[in-house]
Amino acid sequence: MKVSNMIGERFKDKPSYCVSDNHAILVKGGYIKQVSNGVYSLNPMMKRIVNNIEKIVKEELEAIGAQEVMLSSLTPLELKKESGENADKLVKFADRDNIDFVAFNTGYELAIQLIRDSAKSYTNYPFVFFENAKEFYKGRKPSGGLLHLKEAFINRVYSFHKTKDNQDVQFEKISKAYENVLLRCGLKEVFEANSSYDNSEHRFVAFNEIGDATYVACDSCDYISSFNTALSVVENAEGSGVKELELVHTPGVTTIASLAEFLRVDVKTLCKSVAYQKDSDGSLVVGFTRGDLDMNQSKLENIVGDTLYPAELNEDSILSGGFIGPYKIPKEVEVYFDKSLIGIESLAIGANEFDKHYTGFNVERDYGEVEYKDLSDVKEGEGCPLCAKKTLSIKKSVELARLVKTGDALTKAMSVQFLDDDGESKTPFMCAYQLDLLKVAALICEEEHDEYGPIWPKSISPWKVEICCLRSDDEACKSYADDLYTTLKDRGVEVLYDDRKVRPGSMFSDADLFGIPLRVIVSPRNMKDSCVEIASRDKSYVNKSPLDKALDDILDFLK
Ligand SMILES: [Zn+2]
Repeated sequence: MKVSNMIGERFKDKPSYCVSDNHAILVKGGYIKQVSNGVYSLNPMMKRIVNNIEKIVKEELEAIGAQEVMLSSLTPLELKKESGENADKLVKFADRDNIDFVAFNTGYELAIQLIRDSAKSYTNYPFVFFENAKEFYKGRKPSGGLLHLKEAFINRVYSFHKTKDNQDVQFEKISKAYENVLLRCGLKEVFEANSSYDNSEHRFVAFNEIGDATYVACDSCDYISSFNTALSVVENAEGSGVKELELVHTPGVTTIASLAEFLRVDVKTLCKSVAYQKDSDGSLVVGFTRGDLDMNQSKLENIVGDTLYPAELNEDSILSGGFIGPYKIPKEVEVYFDKSLIGIESLAIGANEFDKHYTGFNVERDYGEVEYKDLSDVKEGEGCPLCAKKTLSIKKSVELARLVKTGDALTKAMSVQFLDDDGESKTPFMCAYQLDLLKVAALICEEEHDEYGPIWPKSISPWKVEICCLRSDDEACKSYADDLYTTLKDRGVEVLYDDRKVRPGSMFSDADLFGIPLRVIVSPRNMKDSCVEIASRDKSYVNKSPLDKALDDILDFLK
């Protein structure tokens, strides 16, 4: 490829809409072209990077026996309905025969449909296959350049198994394959983290400040979890002694901070209440936690088994906003207590009356037996659920892959059955895996760049060598560079050739934006000394190489 022919306009300045370094570099360097907010086309350089990532993915997955397929990007609505998944938020259209389709969504139903007819005997299992496909997220608010797109390019793996044990073994294999892919692509460090309440879902994440996800990791052991599923381990506040329950007039004291100030007590002896309503029927749910902690809505939703939204309270509500507490709370309200309240002998609580609180509340004495739950947000420096050391840290993270054991829920819903060797009809187990290929490229760019541009790892770099011919009007330079270009291509080396008549400064700043691992500089001065300069993009290697030895030095570097 010659730079003069290459599609992809480069910019001197960072476009104003770019939100991160990788976003700025990829736009500035002519890698991607914005089509709409969160929607991009890829120029040849970026396409080559993605091709290289796809190649690594294919090698790793085929090595463990997965087969490549190509599922349709259209799912008939009838098929979609079989799984019971809500299709409201998907892209839908009808064709000229009035057949309804959903487009560019996850391929779950198509994957099941692909094997359903041949999955009837135990002898055919397992089925493990993959594809790379585009997904479109209609409801997504894009952010962070390529890290959070409306349209993503995803590697998807599906596997079907006779037993749960078979499924778990395969899950480990795909997980290892994905880890290999991410490290081979050049990411420095990735972590597999639990991201579900029942350990059925894992994610591969990389810690990075530009990430839009939050994970909790222990600095002393291997514990790692998504923020919402991380177990909160708090040392319960010292009991302040059992006291009498006492109603206190607290005019206008509606926040935890103002209550602590008003009563002149430690915030850890207050009971915080957060009121929600259920999405299904609007009924009220209240969670109680210790005053210094925050209620985690996702944890509460998991326990309640419904989506919740903040309660809309007014004067007619059965709850008095700002004064909600567990004592004499209306029976219609579902209540939940966080573990942090265990053992606190005397709490200050809302009195369920405007401008009033109780002090001296004791959960067991004044409310009764309670099943405490884990409802609070984890805090930095909190005790680790695994090793108990107070070394938990909260990290901004980029989620790169999602691995899900769907169990037999989907296969049951879509009536997949097989005859097992014991003669019984059974439902297979299914797993689904997704790896975001564009995110991987964007994150590598974010991790591997300097102020001038990306420093692509050899494994995914769009080309491996760039020849910079500083004076293409100089016959000796031109002829040597032309020959080297042809020879490298003949040797199967991916090479980019800059033979434009531009100033050296301009050629070098473009070369920095291309970020190719090795640069060969052919200049009249070097030619006079019968050598070329060979330099790595990361500046760790610079060498003047005699003309007749340059090819060997280049090939050596690439080994
Ligand atoms: Zn730990």
